[in-house]
Amino acid sequence: MPLRVPYKRVDWINTGFLLTVTLTALIAAPWYLWKHGMSGFLAGMFVFYSIATGMSITLGYHRLFSHLSFKAKWPVRFFTLVFGACAFENSVLNWASDHRRHHKHVDDDDDPYNINNGFFWAHIGWILFKVLPEPPLDNVADLRKDKLVMWQHRWDKLIAMVVGLALPAALGYWHSGAVGALGGFLIAGALRVFVVQQCTFFINSLCHTIGRQPYSSKNSARDSTVMAFLTFGEGYHNFHHAFQHDYRNGVKPWNFDPTKWAIWLLSKLGLASDLRTVPEPKIILAEIAEARRRADEHLAQITQSGVSVCEKALATVHDLQERLAAAYHELEAAMAAKAETSRQALSRWRKEARELLDALSRLDLQPA
Ligand SMILES: [Zn+2]
Ligand SMILES: [Zn+2]
Repeated sequence: MPLRVPYKRVDWINTGFLLTVTLTALIAAPWYLWKHGMSGFLAGMFVFYSIATGMSITLGYHRLFSHLSFKAKWPVRFFTLVFGACAFENSVLNWASDHRRHHKHVDDDDDPYNINNGFFWAHIGWILFKVLPEPPLDNVADLRKDKLVMWQHRWDKLIAMVVGLALPAALGYWHSGAVGALGGFLIAGALRVFVVQQCTFFINSLCHTIGRQPYSSKNSARDSTVMAFLTFGEGYHNFHHAFQHDYRNGVKPWNFDPTKWAIWLLSKLGLASDLRTVPEPKIILAEIAEARRRADEHLAQITQSGVSVCEKALATVHDLQERLAAAYHELEAAMAAKAETSRQALSRWRKEARELLDALSRLDLQPA
């Protein structure tokens, strides 16, 4: 069957730009590296620009401006607005509007990067094709009050060209003449834009496709440690969709979340404040609820299909179900009464929730 492309809806500016960046990153940049190699200066610029622009998206565009998960002084807002623009992902006003709609309507028709429209659509298709009529920017009234945000909204393309592409080329020229300028443009400019953009896009595609769902399987968002390494900690997407206003995405102390660490550091330096966190009992309550919901669903499926399963494994599931039901009610009552719950009890219940999920996965594997 021939591939039908809705040409009338193609956004030619976005498509042309992304195609140019991709070809430059995949052909011109490797050619440059093969021909001229990578100097220490150029490698340093690439690393600096990757971290500065990548973190401006995760810390600034995402957690600060889209979710208001903390407050930041103007130098942080200014830095993340300038370097966020250099990721060529649109102004923060547009980005936050799309992202807030994504959270509100996740997996639905009004979700701009709805995974149910396919992996390609969620990854990049939604940028290549216009949605008609274009949704209004009616969910970012709070951001419009920020003068820096409005300044960036007006000039984001110019900032991106000057600071994101021309400046690394100029610095490269200063360091090693024309070859250095070309290197700055191709490696710290185009290749870095490609890498940072693809990593952001993977959050919308891969993190809604593969990974664990310990907090909620009501939507497609998933936790992926591999993605967390590629996106400064944004890979814990299941937690993020369950508790979007928490400044942490990797909520466990050992989770790899440099964005969380950077926000915490900024707060210690007096540049950030009002870091929002969800109380631990509430998080564990969500984990228990999810495990119980999945157990009910799984057992109902087994009953319906009429397959016989290992009695011993089934007894383990029932036992864990009962214990978790009691734990759920105890925790719920403690939260309502604003009473303290001991750390030991919390970690025991979390362990039991996990054990229940493990026991469920073993059920089908042991036919009687
Ligand atoms: Zn998402
Ligand atoms: Zn988000």
